[in-house]
Amino acid sequence: MNKTIGVLALQGGYREHGAHLRECGIEPIYVKNPDELQNCAGLIMPGGESSCLRRLLRGFELDTAIIHAVQNNNLRIWGTCAGAILCANEVVGEDPCLSLIEASVERNIFGSQLASFCENVIVPGVCDTPERLVYIRAPGIRRIWGQTRLLHSSHDVITAAENDSILITSFHPELSGTRAFHQYFIKKCGLESIDA
Ligand code: GLN
Repeated sequence: MNKTIGVLALQGGYREHGAHLRECGIEPIYVKNPDELQNCAGLIMPGGESSCLRRLLRGFELDTAIIHAVQNNNLRIWGTCAGAILCANEVVGEDPCLSLIEASVERNIFGSQLASFCENVIVPGVCDTPERLVYIRAPGIRRIWGQTRLLHSSHDVITAAENDSILITSFHPELSGTRAFHQYFIKKCGLESIDA
């Protein structure tokens, strides 16, 4: 079987990511078991609730399996919102979860649900026309170091960053009608998307 992209399907907005991948010509796997990672070139960790997701990752024995697949099988990861919190090496006031990227993340950095917002921006390297970015009680990236590169910031807070294997975004590209970030991640995984 050719490798595809998995979407962690324990909690949160995984179906929206799956729909975006399909529109890009990628048939996703909804991942619930460590075995399913073998068929994945990349894994999207969706938004949701990071405290819940971190418990479920352990319960489904996916935490160590994901770390192993990144280190040994070249698995690429994209963490969106709560997923970004799970990927970071540091989480302000909490223990880190997977520690996959040199970044320090702070939960709910913009405030409560009422501080949720959208912006329409060009993200150099990802899209050359404005993309709508949706922030829902979003985390922010306070600091990056080492191999981590800045991709985007908003209101003086870093909201997208990456290293060669891991992409983290504070916002939810699966909630906008456009597909630039999904196409960007598909390419990062070494796969091809259709230009829909
Ligand atoms: N505030 C949530 C958390 O800290 C993340 C919100 C989201 O994923 N939209 O886990």
